[in-house]
Amino acid sequence: MKENKKIWLSPPHMGGRERELVKEAFDANWIAPVGPHISNFEQELSKLSQDFNIAALSSGTAAIHLALILAGVQKDDNVICSSFTFSASVNPIKYLGANPIFIDSDKESWNMCPELLTKAIKDGIKNNKKPKAIILVHLYGMPAKLDELIGVASSFEIPLIEDAAEALGSKYKNQQLGTFADFGIYSFNGNKIITTSGGGALVCKNKKLIEKAKFLATQARDEAPHYEHSEVGYNYRMSNVCAAIGVGQLEVLTERVTRKREIFNFYKNELSMIKEITFLEELEVSFSNYWLTTILLDKNSTIDREQLRLHLEKDNIESRPLWKPMHLQPVFKDCKSYVNGVSEDLFNRGLCLPSGTAMTTEDLKRIVKKVKELYEV
Ligand SMILES: *Cc1c(COP(=O)(O)O)cnc(C)c1O
Repeated sequence: MKENKKIWLSPPHMGGRERELVKEAFDANWIAPVGPHISNFEQELSKLSQDFNIAALSSGTAAIHLALILAGVQKDDNVICSSFTFSASVNPIKYLGANPIFIDSDKESWNMCPELLTKAIKDGIKNNKKPKAIILVHLYGMPAKLDELIGVASSFEIPLIEDAAEALGSKYKNQQLGTFADFGIYSFNGNKIITTSGGGALVCKNKKLIEKAKFLATQARDEAPHYEHSEVGYNYRMSNVCAAIGVGQLEVLTERVTRKREIFNFYKNELSMIKEITFLEELEVSFSNYWLTTILLDKNSTIDREQLRLHLEKDNIESRPLWKPMHLQPVFKDCKSYVNGVSEDLFNRGLCLPSGTAMTTEDLKRIVKKVKELYEV
């Protein structure tokens, strides 16, 4: 039997100009982590918001690592982080020998719960161990409750980092996510809303800190004709070839966001008759890029998320459970956490549906038909 065409969860989607821009990089022989496309990419990216400085880096993970260093995090410090996220949000805390403290989600945004955050900080202060930094995540492109979270962080004067790896093109009160806190980070990994094949960026209002980030990202080389170092450096700069892809991808970002939102609405309209399935909706001041369309299956549903996932997989359709919370991960089992059960429940009942922007209407109809088949509607 001939297999149906594979539908991936969120594959790369080139706009058209990328190949030409990469050719420019080749023709000029800028095949290195230096070259004109890097500054072009930074300049174009900084246009998403006013007064922002950008360092293009090798990954979103590298950007989080540098943000923590610039925030002054050191060995044995405590750093607060969203529990409902991808492990890359947390790993850099461990690189520094610091201790993650996990905060569960609120029901409305699925992101960091402001009340639990307050409790964690107060406990820390009581124990003479005030957290050194906070990493909040805008998961699946959905804005966290920024007003509340920023309010808490600033009232305790703790540096705040926005992990907006999944949230390029998402807005809160009409402002691009990643530009609210002391630092923001983006990822341009292959599965994200736009990609440089692999890459990331650090965002900060403070120009000096971004210059410092670029310095650290290029092996911390002091001014000298020879190689002189007075600090430990990293090899974290973005390649000029990758930046060329990024320049092309930024040209189609708005288009991609529009399409992701259409995909979300298509699923919602087509599947809303199935009472067991619900969708994550935007809060009043939020605008999501809907990087991935996520669904929740009813607690009392006879069909669980694994059944649905396997049913789609049989037809060569890739879907994926929601992120497994960090406080439930074996690698972080010894870390402190503030838990209310929300993210664990989301993990048990939630599924990401294929959300690739290059999908055709036929593809979408095929997926929806498969879901309906299982629910016999
Ligand atoms: C992808 C991702 C990262 C890491 O980005 P990389 O570029 O893959 O290193 C960090 N946080 C979240 C929430 C992500 O989805």
